[in-house]
Amino acid sequence: MKRSKHWNSALKITQKLQKAGFKALFAGGCVRDGLLGKVPGDFDIATSARPEQVEGLFEKTLAVGKSFGVIVVLEQGVQFEVATFRGEGSYSDGRRPSEVHYTDAKQDASRRDFTVNGMFFDPIGERLIDYVGGEADLKARVIRTIGNASARFSEDYLRMLRAVRFSAQLGFSIDVLTASAIKAGAKNIDALSAERKTSELGKLLSATWSATGLQLLQTLGLAEVLFEDWYDSASFAKSMRLVRSASARLTDLNLLWACLFWGVVSTSTKGSGEVPGWLKKSKFSNASLEAIKLALLLSEQVSLSEKLRLPYFWIWLDALESDQTVQFLDVVRTDEGVPEPEFESLMSEFIARVDKATGRLQKPILKGSDLISEGVPAGPKLGELLDQAYHYQLMHLETKKAALLRVLL
Ligand code: ATP
Ligand code: MG
Repeated sequence: MKRSKHWNSALKITQKLQKAGFKALFAGGCVRDGLLGKVPGDFDIATSARPEQVEGLFEKTLAVGKSFGVIVVLEQGVQFEVATFRGEGSYSDGRRPSEVHYTDAKQDASRRDFTVNGMFFDPIGERLIDYVGGEADLKARVIRTIGNASARFSEDYLRMLRAVRFSAQLGFSIDVLTASAIKAGAKNIDALSAERKTSELGKLLSATWSATGLQLLQTLGLAEVLFEDWYDSASFAKSMRLVRSASARLTDLNLLWACLFWGVVSTSTKGSGEVPGWLKKSKFSNASLEAIKLALLLSEQVSLSEKLRLPYFWIWLDALESDQTVQFLDVVRTDEGVPEPEFESLMSEFIARVDKATGRLQKPILKGSDLISEGVPAGPKLGELLDQAYHYQLMHLETKKAALLRVLL
C-alpha cells in the first residue's frame, strides 16, 4: 500500500481526522488491494466525522456527494473521498438507497457489497479491522456478499455485475450461495441504467480474466439478459473466444468491445436488426457504436475477406481510433480461419490508404464547399454525394478532380 504515490496524502488526511478526535480508517478497495500486495488505485477514507466536520477540518473540499455523506478532500491536487460511516436505508427500486443514516464502522462495513471489499485499515495503528470475514475470503480467493446474497442483490442489482467483474479482475471464484442468488435474480439487471451496465462491462472486458468473466456472465444467466434478442449460446461462445485471444494482445478497450460484439452480433441467429435498447442509450464512444452497427450491417453473410475489400469497412476500422486495429483483425482472422497470405494482401490494400504521418485513413479530398461551388445545393443530397465521393476515392485511390467528376456526372 505504501508504494502508492497517494499514500502520504491519504495518511495525512487520516491523521488529521484522528487528531481531531474522530475515527478515521482506510476503507474498501484500497484495503483489499493492499492485502493482495497490489498498489491501490485510490484511497477511500471512512470516518465518524460528519460531512460538515470534515469540511471544517480541511482547506480544500468539494461537497459533490454531501447528501449521502461523502466529502471530497483535495490534498496535493489529488481528490480523496472521505465518507462518514453510514448504513444505508431501504432500497425502493434496486438501484439506489432512498435514505442514508450515519452509524459506526461496523454497520458501515455491513452495507458494503462483498466481504473482500468490506474491510478497514488503520494506517496509524497499522491494524486491519475486519468485521465481515474479508481476510479469510481474500485468502480463499472468493467473492461472497456480506449478509444474505438475495437480499443484497435485490437492494442493488448492479452488485450482480460487480460480483462477476471483481471475479474477473482478481481471478477469484464466486461463492456458491452468492452465485445461485445471481442466477435467481439475473433478469433484474435489465432495470439498470445503460451507463452502469456499460461501465461495469467495460471494467470486465479490461480485466485480467475477462474471458472467464464472460463465461460467468453466461453460466449465471446474465449474458442473455444483457444481450436480449441477440443472445444465443453459439454466438456468445464466439465472443468469448475472440475476447480471450484479444486480451492477450490488445489493451484498447474499444477493440475489446468490438470483439464482444463481433461475436454476439455477427453470428447471432436471433438478432432482429436492432441492437439491445440499453446500448443505444448508453454513452458509448462513437467507435464502439460503429463497431456494433457494422457487425449488424454486414452480419454473417459477408466473410472477413469480403469485408476487408469494402471502403465502408475501412472507414469503420479508422473510426475505432486505435493503433491496434491490425492486431484486432488478426484475432478475427485466426478465429474465422482466413489464410494468412490472403489476409496480408487484403491488409496491404487498407494500409495503402492510411496516411503514414497520422496513421489514420486518408481524409476525404472533396469538401462540401467544392460541391457547392459546382452548383450542388446544400442539403441531404450533398452529404450523400460526399459519402459516395469518399468511398470512390478510397476504392480507386483517386485524385480530387476524378472524385469530383465521378459524383457530378
Ligand atoms: P475499484 O478498484 O474498481 O475502484 P473498489 O472496491 O474501490 O474497486 P468502488 O466501486 O470504487 O470499488 O467502491 C468502493 C467501495 O464502496 C467498495 O470497495 C465497496 O466497499 C463499496 N461499494 C461500491 N459500490 C457498492 C455497491 N453497489 N454496493 C455496496 N457497496 C459498494
Ligand atoms: Mg475505487
